[in-house]
Amino acid sequence: MNRVVVIGANHSALSAINTIIDRFSGEVEVVAFEQDDNISFIGADGLLWVSGVVNDVQETLYSSEQKLKNKGIKLHMNTKVVEIDTQNHTVTGVSSSGQKVVENWNKLILATGSEPILPRISGIQLENITTVKTLLDAYKLKNIATNSKIKSVGIIGGGYIGVETAEALRKARSDIKIQLFDTADKIMGKYYDEPFNKHVHEILERNRIELKTNEELLKITGSKKVERITTNIAKYNVDAVVFAIGFKPRASLLPELKRGSAGAYKVNRFGQTSNLDIYASGDCATVWHSVLEDDAYIALGSNATHHGILAGENAATSLTKPEVALRKANGVAGSNALCLFGEVFASTGLTHSAALSSGFNAQFIDFTSTLKPAYIKDGNAIVQIRLVYNQVNKTEHRLLGAQIYSEVDISGILSYFSLALDQKLTLEELRYVDLFFLPQVNQVYNFVQRAIAKVVR
Ligand SMILES: Cc1cc2nc3c(=O)[nH]c(=O)nc-3n(C[C@H](O)[C@H](O)[C@H](O)COP(=O)(O)OP(=O)(O)OC[C@H]3O[C@@H](n4cnc5c(N)ncnc54)[C@H](O)[C@@H]3O)c2cc1C
Repeated sequence: MNRVVVIGANHSALSAINTIIDRFSGEVEVVAFEQDDNISFIGADGLLWVSGVVNDVQETLYSSEQKLKNKGIKLHMNTKVVEIDTQNHTVTGVSSSGQKVVENWNKLILATGSEPILPRISGIQLENITTVKTLLDAYKLKNIATNSKIKSVGIIGGGYIGVETAEALRKARSDIKIQLFDTADKIMGKYYDEPFNKHVHEILERNRIELKTNEELLKITGSKKVERITTNIAKYNVDAVVFAIGFKPRASLLPELKRGSAGAYKVNRFGQTSNLDIYASGDCATVWHSVLEDDAYIALGSNATHHGILAGENAATSLTKPEVALRKANGVAGSNALCLFGEVFASTGLTHSAALSSGFNAQFIDFTSTLKPAYIKDGNAIVQIRLVYNQVNKTEHRLLGAQIYSEVDISGILSYFSLALDQKLTLEELRYVDLFFLPQVNQVYNFVQRAIAKVVR
């Protein structure tokens, strides 16, 4: 029988595996390798466990070795792939007990994901230092949150993960000192422009998270455990350090494959690498950016899942129905949301500053209103929106990105903008889209249309 070997068994790999087994059962056999002892864990759920929203972290795992084996998948757990022979189509793994396993493949899917970036500074090996990625990291963070001897934590990195970690630790412990460090002058500056960063700063400070922007970590000191960190500005006594400075693709298994953005495996719109028998998806691979119209590296579970399905479907189709055209991936634009102490942010596409540095002659519209008509007094929150666009000609303004903030969950509207970016729609085309009206929920001429009306007359 035709055989697909998948390397990795987390979100992207699981999407590929389940797609093949559910849709090509009896036609394609699946073999998978996973170096870790668990599958289907996501860091976001680990933080919900640390904060107390989830009681049992094991409940967040949606798959298991047994579930995959019951579906007929040959899974090598605790087995790290160390070699791939592209001439003879073999993969060699070594288990944690040192056993060597060799498997043959007709098509290969690389879903080896990403790993946290750590700086090359002294003191990095001390106790009470963790990253935020794996299930093991979640246990370490839970220990930081529950160990009363740990009174002060330094979080390095003010992106999503750093901010969500700060929130989780604050929710877990009101008495812990939390300091959030970033080399940039804004927290979450990669995803939002100034007015939105301001809200993020206010919310964090209101929750006693001390912001240390424009500060670069230089060293960590302590005898066995962390005791102090030194930045370019000052020295701080801390009992634990959490690193959240980003992720790099794990893309070293096949050096001969072409690399793209951030050194990830460069894939075409069908999920194939430069060796067309080998697919790559998720955090180890590039994606097609619908606004930049170029390869990009966007490490998100949403992309990992969608592209895993695509890789699985295309790998199996090419084996079983070579005459059928492969499915092409939609572009992506980094659509994301953040729920910070109950207040909601969502963004997609380019911020104004990213659009300018990408060479667009970009402009923006800001609009703030109440979500519902003024006569609705109950739960009528403020909603703030920024639309980033460029003027294509006298009558057309192309949407480049959208950012939204509210005290209530308005993140659903983001999908409308993601689709608009994917379809390269203009503000003129978006203005009279058939948006519903229900006074308990929104306004007849809602905040999106009213924002657009400031540009399109
Ligand atoms: C704290 C946190 C919160 C997040 N929140 C969100 C969110 O809210 N929304 C969102 O969309 N995304 C979120 N993400 C990002 C998301 O977790 C990743 O994009 C996603 O995990 C990528 O899935 P993946 O399968 O490509 O890679 P990974 O999850 O990195 O999995 C790769 C797997 O491959 C295995 N592997 C690697 N090399 C080998 C080898 N040589 N042999 C065998 N096995 C190997 C690894 O052990 C691992 O299990 C979050 C991430 C973190 C850390």
